[in-house]
Amino acid sequence: MAKRDFYEVLGVSREASDEEIKKAYRQLARKLHPDVNKDDPKAEDKFKEVNEAYEILSDSQKRAAYDRFGHAGVDPSQGMGGGAAGAGGFGGFGGGFEGFGDIFDMFFGGGGGGGMGGGRRRTGPQRGADVRMEMNISLEDAAAGVKKHLEVPLTEICDTCHGNGAKPGTPIRTCSTCGGTGQVKVSQNTLFGQFVNVRTCEKCGGEGKTAETPCTDCNGRGVVRNRKRIEVNVPSGISHGSGLRIQGAGEAGLNGGGTGDLIVVVKIRPHKVFKREGDDLYRDLSISFTQAALGTKLTVDTLDGQAELNVPEGTQSETVLKLKGQGVPHLGGRGRGDLFVRVQITTPSQLTAEQRDLLRELAKSFGEEPPEEGGFFSKVKNALGK
Ligand SMILES: [Zn+2]
Ligand SMILES: [Zn+2]
Repeated sequence: MAKRDFYEVLGVSREASDEEIKKAYRQLARKLHPDVNKDDPKAEDKFKEVNEAYEILSDSQKRAAYDRFGHAGVDPSQGMGGGAAGAGGFGGFGGGFEGFGDIFDMFFGGGGGGGMGGGRRRTGPQRGADVRMEMNISLEDAAAGVKKHLEVPLTEICDTCHGNGAKPGTPIRTCSTCGGTGQVKVSQNTLFGQFVNVRTCEKCGGEGKTAETPCTDCNGRGVVRNRKRIEVNVPSGISHGSGLRIQGAGEAGLNGGGTGDLIVVVKIRPHKVFKREGDDLYRDLSISFTQAALGTKLTVDTLDGQAELNVPEGTQSETVLKLKGQGVPHLGGRGRGDLFVRVQITTPSQLTAEQRDLLRELAKSFGEEPPEEGGFFSKVKNALGK
């Protein structure tokens, strides 16, 4: 037999006040009490039914659960897994009243005392937030390591009021908005019916107390915005996009919570000469065709000095020559990457008469036929006045 509606059992409307429910129960209990109904065998069952209905409807929390979920919301014997009509939708939450608790936790992240737990945490120690900042450095600094200073905008506890937001010497009163609880209750309509959502009081920020005369230095907020100069040690060999964590240089914590960290994201500016890949460096170098043909030793600029580059005889254009150990130092370890020099051979564009004669001789020795002196191209040049 289907369980009767509790309101029907007590003979009251769904909007009945606590007083009306109590009154109805007393009347029925007196009427149905087993002691006065010894002749009626059904009286005991009815009496139990009335008691059960009253137990639920006289408890505001249980009544709320019953209003939302019916018998399934308040009676463990009506188990969620038992195929009880209408209860299938809540199958994931376990059985009976405990199921309601789970939904509550799910909505408010409660844990412990249901909805109140989430709000109360606000007044406990809170760790300060981490602050993230970017820092641009040169490739030279990235390779060698560098000490830099950053101006970090931080929220800090106000020195004047020590964080309580009150002008020194003035009293702090219980918050009038939340009555000192730090929380306000807001009704919220959800898929599961109406919930009472507990929010942090905006006026006192969950502290439950407000300053009668606000501190003038922080406008009663208890915190001020400061720019703090932080020294950052950038290690040698750091790469583009790396993060450096500086512990305790972030936002101040609340109520004794730890200070957050400063996270510096290192950005390396592009270099005019050198390109970096891992710890290796790349650069171009122009050499003359005679240097390439005959081979030579050249002094070239490295990122942090100079090095001697051996250009072998017969070097072709675009040949890549390696200068071992002239790259970027390995981060946190010994050794360095290499420097790769890409050779580009330039053709001379301005020749003296003597050089031109020498080249003509050279061309002939290669079996080439150089153009006659004063040939077609010379005539064009002369015509253009060059
Ligand atoms: Zn202050
Ligand atoms: Zn308040």
